[in-house]
Formats: sequence, structure tokens, C-alpha cells
Amino acid sequence: MAPELKAPDFRRIAEIRREQRTYFLSGETRDPRFRKAMLDRLRAAIKEHESAFLRALYLDLHKSEFEAYSNEIGIVYREIRYAMRHVRRWSRRRSVLPDIHLLPGRARIIREPYGSALIIAPWNYPMQLLFVPLVSAIAAGNTAVVKPSELAPHTAEVTQRTIESVFPGRYLAVVQGGAETSTALIDQGFDYLLFTGSTQVGRSVMERAAQQLTPVTLELGGKSPAIVHASADLALTARKLAWGKFNNAGQTCVAPDYVLADRRIAGELADRLRETVREFYGENPAESDGYGRIINLKHFERLRALLDTESVFHGGRHDAATLYIEPTILYPTSWKEPAMEEEIFGPILPIIPFESLEEALTTIRDRPSPLALYLFTRERAVRKTVMNGVRFGGGGINCTILQITSNRLPFGGIGQSGVGKQHGKAGFDTFSHTKSVLTQPSRIDLPLAYPHKHLGMRILRAIFR
Ligand code: NAD
Repeated sequence: MAPELKAPDFRRIAEIRREQRTYFLSGETRDPRFRKAMLDRLRAAIKEHESAFLRALYLDLHKSEFEAYSNEIGIVYREIRYAMRHVRRWSRRRSVLPDIHLLPGRARIIREPYGSALIIAPWNYPMQLLFVPLVSAIAAGNTAVVKPSELAPHTAEVTQRTIESVFPGRYLAVVQGGAETSTALIDQGFDYLLFTGSTQVGRSVMERAAQQLTPVTLELGGKSPAIVHASADLALTARKLAWGKFNNAGQTCVAPDYVLADRRIAGELADRLRETVREFYGENPAESDGYGRIINLKHFERLRALLDTESVFHGGRHDAATLYIEPTILYPTSWKEPAMEEEIFGPILPIIPFESLEEALTTIRDRPSPLALYLFTRERAVRKTVMNGVRFGGGGINCTILQITSNRLPFGGIGQSGVGKQHGKAGFDTFSHTKSVLTQPSRIDLPLAYPHKHLGMRILRAIFR
């Protein structure tokens, strides 16, 4: 049984905030050597609890060991290693050339932690999406409070045990709970807030954070399209799409939500997708070790309703008792389909045929900018047209999802799919304030702007032109 959701403990939340503020002001977290040591300590603690995480991810989402390691635990280790290797360089202050009117002087950019960061995580990758931003917050020298999702309670418990086993609450704290607890935390006015979740909740989180003018990064969702051009290698496309879509039973923020396929190849693509699903998960995916489950009954019911359609081309079987929904392909279908109204966030893949690439691009442009976009083609000109022609967070050409596994590629949405970036250096930058400092010598004071002795207008105009 999943542990019960507790009401927010307002006193404890306020106390943690106070303790973290005091500890941050002690200056201990600012030293890059300290940050590196804490990252190392975090890695060791996760290693220590690795089997507990594997078990929890299975209980929460039926993730196989391979999936849990490759999509969650392994990604966190990589992020820690990368941050440990670069944290000293990232934290270095940089000198820049002072402008002519600032001479003699020295201009510097200092990267410093915001203070106490608040990280609110979702349930779909409940470990990775909490620890990756936490790594960036630590690397940048902040203290942090993390709030795991109440919908993945087993992972939340292990997260709490892991962090509390090696860190005092004044440095890193875990607060469990649901929306009410999130709100109570946001109201504490943390120095930075990183929220990952739905666009709808993201909007109210931003509104709430605005009351305290807390700077935010919002990692949100939306409907991410995959465009399949007539020139695509269809066997490869089917494998990449099926893998990206049905991994974690479709509960992935950057999964291809739907496919726009050139009418000339759409039918063949649908056939190949069906074959690929059989190849990946067998005739009965319910028996496959590598296939996940829906997080809870509410989401199961939401998804089941999307299956009441005549366009089920493959799949469609489901079982409420085990929260199972078969990998499902809807084809041919259209924007009138209920599945096209909102982000699907489940193992249902609609294929909508298009007549021309321009038509496909217009369809995407007319809707909120997606978090991800995928393109399958062998033509360079098509790549250029699509990559330059639509706004989206990030994406892939002839692949799905993999763009987010690189520490070197900033990850985040645009418009309704999010605000701000993370991963690697981008994550460090997110949790760092850029403090600009100009130093002028006290011996020399050029009277360039004082009212009684300022520059002539001619010189002023020459400098500020
Ligand atoms: P959610 O928005 O329901 O919840 C996310 C977190 O916010 C949870 O910790 C939850 O307790 C908390 N929360 C819920 N209601 C709240 C409220 N009113 N005020 C403050 N906090 C609240 O999202 P979810 O269902 O956990 O995750 C699914 C969504 O997240 C999908 O839309 C998906 O696309 C998106 N997502 C985005 C990314 C990304 O990196 N961009 C990653 C994973 C998931």
C-alpha cells in the first residue's frame, strides 16, 4: 500500500527555510571544493540506496531494472560526474574588458548561488527529475529543499531516506506532500524555484511564486509532434518512434505525442509501427518485462476514454486492475480525435496524414510551442525548413528523446512548454546569480560626469553613440 498523504506541516516548513537561510549565510556552501565534495557524497548515498530505488521505481511505475537504470539512476550518476568535473571552472569569476568610460577600472562577473532553492518534481521520472536539478543546485552552491511527487510514493520515500542519510536538513531537506505542501513551500519565498510538471499547474506555480518575486524555471509539458517526411527510412522511424513513445508507457514529457506523416507513406508507417510494437513487446505486452504501467487509476481512466474511437489501428486492450494499457496506434486519424485535445501522456500514438510539409508546419505553428519536436527525413533541405520554421524547446532528427540525455545540450521548453533551461552547464547557470562588479581605484577619480566639471556634449556623444 502506498503511504498516505500528510497535510503540510507549516511549522516544520518555516523552520527548514529559516535553518537553510542561516546555514547559507555561513558561506560554507560557496566554496567549489565543498560543492564537489557534496556531489560526491550524494553519489555515494544514491549508490548505497540503488537497489531500493530500483524496487521503488518498479512499485511506482513497473519500471524494469534496465529502464530504471538507463532512464533514471544512470542519468543522475552522469549528471553528478559531469558537474564534479566542471564545477570549479564554472564557478570561476571572469574578468571582462571595461568600457572606455569606465577606465581606469576592472570589470568582473561573479557566479554566485541564489541561496536556498526549491525543487518540485513530477511522478513520471520521479528520481531523475528530482535529482538532476538538485545536482545543479548543489553545483551552483545553493542549499535546497526538494518536494517529490506524491503520486510516486515509494520513490519519494527512498529519496527522503537517501538524502537524510548523509545531509543535514539545514543544507538539503526533503518535504513530502501534494499540492498544498507545494504551495506552502512556494509561499516561503525561496531564492529560486525549479518546477517540473504540467503546464496547467506550472501556470499557478508561477503566479504564486510571483507574489514573492521568486525567480522560476518551469519545465512543463504539451503535445510534442513527430513529422515523418516521405523521404524517411520507415523501418528506422518506426523503431525510434515506438521506443520514444512506449518507453515508460508513454508517460514521458518529451515523448512524441502524435505523428504527422506524409499521406504517401502514412499507411506503411502504421504497418511498420505495428510490427515494431510486436517485435519490442511481443503479442501480449502485458506479459513483457520491459513494458510499464499507468501511474494511477485517475490517469488510467483518462487514457481509457481516449480509446473510445474508431481509429484504433493496433492495440487498445487495457486492464484497470493492473493499470495496463496496451501500446496503441490510432490511424488514420485527425485533429477531431479526443486524443488530440490535450497532451496524451500515455501509450497512445495517433498518426495524422498530411498533404504537404507546409501544411504540417502550419498545424504546429498554430498551436502552443511544444517541448520537443522530431523529424524523420533523409533530405537536408527538409531538415532546414523544419528546424528553422517552427518554435519548440528542443528535438531530434531521425531520433527521439535522446537529445535530453546529453549534459552538453541545454534542455527546456519555450512558451507554454516552459521557461528556462537545465542540464550540465545550463543547469548550473540556472541556479547561479550573475553578479557584475566594477572596481575603480580610489587614487584616481576622473571627473567625467560630475555636474560642475562634466564632459562636453561632443565627447559624450562620441562615447555613447
Ligand atoms: P503536476 O503538474 O500535476 O505535478 C507536478 C508537481 O507539482 C508535483 O510534485 C505535485 O505535487 C505538485 N503540484 C500539483 N498541483 C499543484 C499546485 N496546484 N500547486 C503547486 N504544486 C502542485 O504534473 P505531473 O502529473 O506530476 O507530471 C506530468 C506533467 O509534467 C506532464 O504534463 C508532463 O509533460 C510534465 N513533465 C514535464 C517535464 C519537463 O522536463 N519539461 C518532465 C516531466 C513531466
